[in-house]
Amino acid sequence: MKVPASKTQENLNKEVKSAYFDLPALDVSIAFPQATPASIFPPCASDYYQFDDLLTPEEQAVRNKVRECMEKEVAPIMAKYWEKAEFPFEVIPKLGALRVAGGSIKGYGCPNLSITANAIATAELARVDASCSTFILVHSSLAMLTIALCGSEAQKQKYLPSLAELKTVACWALTEPDYGSDASALRTTARKIDLQTSDNQVEGGWVLDGQKRWIGNSTFADVLVVFARNPATNQINGFILKKNAPGLQATKIDNKIGLRIVQNGDILMKNVFVPDEDKLPGVGSFQDTNKVLAVSRVMVAWQPIGISMGVYDMCHRYLKERKQFGAPLAAFQINQQKLVRMLGNIQAMILVGWRLCKLYESGKMTPGHASMGKSWISLKARETVSLGRELLGGNGILADFLVAKAFCDLEPIFTYEGTYDINTLVTGREITGIPSFKPAASRSRM
Ligand SMILES: Cc1cc2nc3c(=O)[nH]c(=O)nc-3n(C[C@H](O)[C@H](O)[C@H](O)COP(=O)(O)OP(=O)(O)OC[C@H]3O[C@@H](n4cnc5c(N)ncnc54)[C@H](O)[C@@H]3O)c2cc1C
Repeated sequence: MKVPASKTQENLNKEVKSAYFDLPALDVSIAFPQATPASIFPPCASDYYQFDDLLTPEEQAVRNKVRECMEKEVAPIMAKYWEKAEFPFEVIPKLGALRVAGGSIKGYGCPNLSITANAIATAELARVDASCSTFILVHSSLAMLTIALCGSEAQKQKYLPSLAELKTVACWALTEPDYGSDASALRTTARKIDLQTSDNQVEGGWVLDGQKRWIGNSTFADVLVVFARNPATNQINGFILKKNAPGLQATKIDNKIGLRIVQNGDILMKNVFVPDEDKLPGVGSFQDTNKVLAVSRVMVAWQPIGISMGVYDMCHRYLKERKQFGAPLAAFQINQQKLVRMLGNIQAMILVGWRLCKLYESGKMTPGHASMGKSWISLKARETVSLGRELLGGNGILADFLVAKAFCDLEPIFTYEGTYDINTLVTGREITGIPSFKPAASRSRM
């Protein structure tokens, strides 16, 4: 059969076009040979005041092993996963082998680290990849710690050992679509039921109904720690749910611009049955979450420290490699001033974070201390990473050179575990004795 001449020409054009336009992106080392991308992670230049001197040999050893693993195993693959917003499951065994999951928990196969060592590990994870550090934080400092502090002996023995080895993964579900900062008002219900008679008052188990939002790791977590309101007492209780429980659904939230590797999910619960043995005996009210949040807030405060260190380290190397106007970018006074501002911020952030750990370890840390640490450190980190983003010019918007990714990853951290504002109000209440969470009109007269 004879093909019309015009058609042949069209196909020809298409072929030529696709061969020209559909080529894969140039490898960044060819596209931009002058500076090394973050897949080869820069050496640490951000510990200017020799924070190492404040650490015990054990804490230094934790720092070194986490740093080595993150730089060698994680840095080379993170930009790719971040771009695709996928989770690198291949990294889980490597993180498990670090023995940092379970942090400060003693026994049950957990590492029994000091709070300081736990914080250092968090920062070292975040220095290379904030998503990895959030993955561990949710799993360890929220879910595992809730089981350790509020669980029964049987629950601790059943769940903690495999979670500590990262053979299983956990998530922690508090936030709901309608209750974010106001989480204590949550509406998910947990009703006591009898399977046979459906009589609300009889022993047997609990039925959970409701919705959660933003829950990190939830799309693949084996164990879900979920908070729900008991309508009989109007108090918040905690439950351990398992993946694939009938009536439970967790779906990924798409289109995030930060922590893209973390799989945040919407959870729907319709008549999810939870046996009595999986109700956490230590959560009798919302206040009981405070002992968990006290530790996790300290850990979250160390994430912006790690992120800022990584950004500084990257800028420090980049500015010496990249030349403009016949000189390395590091030779220009304005750039030096930005570097020094970043470095000064980081030293102050480290010292505040370190003091927070020491206050916790000596039993003196208050909720106001932890909240001020988290909010102030994340504010300084915002300034630090935005300076870093400027310093890299166009490459400052590419995930390959870390700073753009870190810049975006910091935003959700500014918001989660209590937003900057809410943490400020927690400290404000502590130092004045006056709570100001509710607008004046809805507050009862003092
Ligand atoms: C990436 C990511 C991961 C998360 N992971 C988890 C998780 O694993 N588990 C979980 O349970 N939750 C998780 N969260 C939820 C997170 O804790 C909430 O997003 C956070 O508490 C803020 O709630 P919200 O987003 O509903 O904001 P809102 O509460 O709607 O707040 C919006 C704005 O109003 C301000 N605001 C609110 N109330 C006041 C007030 N009283 N006074 C002054 N200002 C106020 C806030 O500061 C903020 O600026 C995650 C969130 C993100 C983005």
